[in-house]
Amino acid sequence: MASTLRLDGRVAYVTGSTRGIGNAIARLFAEHGAAVVINGHTIADQPEELAAELTASHGVACLGIRADQRDPAAVSGAFSRIFKTYGRLDVLVNNAGIVDDALLGMISDRSIEETFAVNTLAVIRNTQLASRLMRHVGTGSIVNISSIMGVQGNAGEVVYAGSKAAVIGITRSAAKELAPTGIRVNAIAPGFVDTDMTRSLDPAVYQERLASIGMGRIAQPLDVANVALFLASDLSAYVTGQVIGVDGSMIV
Ligand code: NAD
Repeated sequence: MASTLRLDGRVAYVTGSTRGIGNAIARLFAEHGAAVVINGHTIADQPEELAAELTASHGVACLGIRADQRDPAAVSGAFSRIFKTYGRLDVLVNNAGIVDDALLGMISDRSIEETFAVNTLAVIRNTQLASRLMRHVGTGSIVNISSIMGVQGNAGEVVYAGSKAAVIGITRSAAKELAPTGIRVNAIAPGFVDTDMTRSLDPAVYQERLASIGMGRIAQPLDVANVALFLASDLSAYVTGQVIGVDGSMIV
């Protein structure tokens, strides 16, 4: 059979998928035939509602799970529910993330702990748990959302850039370890994407970042989701351990 972007019959778990980039990925995956597991954690998040909407519009059996990525018990509980519901997992997208920019002298312990808990520790735990389920299938794709800041570094982003650089080390190491099992692990390093995360920036910083993009426009979440779909699908069957920039030639 020819390789295709379709994900029919696959189960894909996207963390932090009620809004922003994760939401675009979840919607695109469902459009391409995957049963998508939506994850939210706040009271305002409605992962079950989005799962019901995608189930109705694409005829795929989606599932909503409330799980705080900072909480190891909640992280592992999500995989138990996925296993009970589907008995398998084919794709994991580690997308949930937070940013808390601060110059070195202003960094608090709480900020370090929270940022690394969501952006880094949860990625390791999810990768561990997902790879156990994927081994049963004999194939799988893990896509980690890093950041251009994790590749390049940036003043005022020691914590965030550090947490995202760690994701690259995790990606490359897990790719090597899991290659013999048929599980692929890749990362995406987005530049500047139009989501709540960037809309909350100081207007001067926002303009400065916009001006640093060679292509002259902010990325839309779909720009990132399209690359996640490629990495989840069989079109990237021989691609692992890679970090793909989606930054429109942004200079940091
Ligand atoms: P966003 O703030 O819109 O979305 C972040 C998502 O993570 C939300 O769904 C949120 O609920 C979820 N999340 C945060 N803390 C969580 C927790 N404790 N438990 C579960 N979910 C949690 O931002 P976004 O831009 O869509 O970010 C998505 C990913 O892309 C993040 O990892 C971010 O670091 C990365 N990224 C974003 C940009 C950008 O310019 N927006 C650039 C590079 C990388």
